[in-house]
Amino acid sequence: MDISYILNELGEERENYYNAVSPPIIQSSNFTFKTVNEFREALADEFKANLYSRGQNPTLNILRQKLAALDGAEDALVFSSGIAAITIPILALLKQGDHVVSVENPYSWTIKLFNNFLSKFGIATTFVNGTSVQEIQNAINPATKLIYLESPNTFSYDLQDMEAIAAIAKARGIITMADNSYCTPLYQKPIKMGIDLVAQSATKYIGGHSDVVAGVVTGCKALIKRIFEHEFMNTGASLSPHSAWLLIRGLRTLPLRLQRSFETTAKVIAWLKLQLQVDKILWPFDEDFKQAELAKKQMQGCGGLFSFTLKDSSLEKIETFCNGLQHILMAVSWGGHESLIIPSIAGIPVNEYDADNLRHQLIRMYVGLEAPDYLTDDLNRGFNNISF
Ligand SMILES: *Cc1c(COP(=O)(O)O)cnc(C)c1O
Repeated sequence: MDISYILNELGEERENYYNAVSPPIIQSSNFTFKTVNEFREALADEFKANLYSRGQNPTLNILRQKLAALDGAEDALVFSSGIAAITIPILALLKQGDHVVSVENPYSWTIKLFNNFLSKFGIATTFVNGTSVQEIQNAINPATKLIYLESPNTFSYDLQDMEAIAAIAKARGIITMADNSYCTPLYQKPIKMGIDLVAQSATKYIGGHSDVVAGVVTGCKALIKRIFEHEFMNTGASLSPHSAWLLIRGLRTLPLRLQRSFETTAKVIAWLKLQLQVDKILWPFDEDFKQAELAKKQMQGCGGLFSFTLKDSSLEKIETFCNGLQHILMAVSWGGHESLIIPSIAGIPVNEYDADNLRHQLIRMYVGLEAPDYLTDDLNRGFNNISF
């Protein structure tokens, strides 16, 4: 399906709302029926009917159709956060005694889901280095029901060979799920590579303006219906119609914003490589990146998140550098208009800092929509504070 059609027309029935270009926010909790029979049919199958907005809502359904089509999936469900779009499908897929193989160090709350939450229900997880297909294969046992991927990772940028892993999983009847927040469907299509379920934090690039928290999962109709009927309806993590409307608006400019973020990132990285204070740079489309070949094979473009380290990785130098920035904001999240920085040390107790541990040294930057010079001037300000 043509991407311009998806973003501008798909799911929009303008003749039903005064031919308005922008869809209405159907801010209603419930929907009425003319006859008992219509009411009975809706109650019998909430997956099909506008009955109550914890389940279906017309504004959300416009968004769902667009997000499913972007992924090349049959259907999509939207949630009140990205982590709900990961947690709820996994709760739907697994039961006591099942086993998960997950990439190591996925998104922080995904780690907590596996370690602290699923473990309460007798579901065990093995974390493996996902850059090795062999390690994933070796971790599979007869109880394995799910292989969980996140490619690229949003701190280390580790990738997984999705086609190879999907083939291994399919041969054993194991479901695969991937967090595709980094690339969005514009730059990577896991479903086309054989992955069963694709989750995204829509808070990031889809929303794109740092003003809404939301998530999406896409997959085949049967899996989405299974997730909807029990765990989705029971946890009640549905998105508000107003937030759905903000995401529809975000989608209109997604290709432009993503391209801008990608191009500016390449420029900022080229500049950083010339700076004496910088040591390593991690970004999947960098020619020196260890999995650059796989990145070019399975990604059509690259996001604006990357990490770097300083030659002098003392706690003090990292702090002085970050504290000296004036325009690049220090905050969690990413995918909005504004460039951001987050040093790993912000999440590590001061006395636990290990200057020899790469994960501790990393400074993650997200490149937003500002002009490249505006960002490099600001980075330069930070570097001047720590020049040798
Ligand atoms: C932010 C993020 C999430 C969680 O999404 P929320 O919308 O914050 O709940 C999951 N995965 C990745 C890679 C993220 O960056």
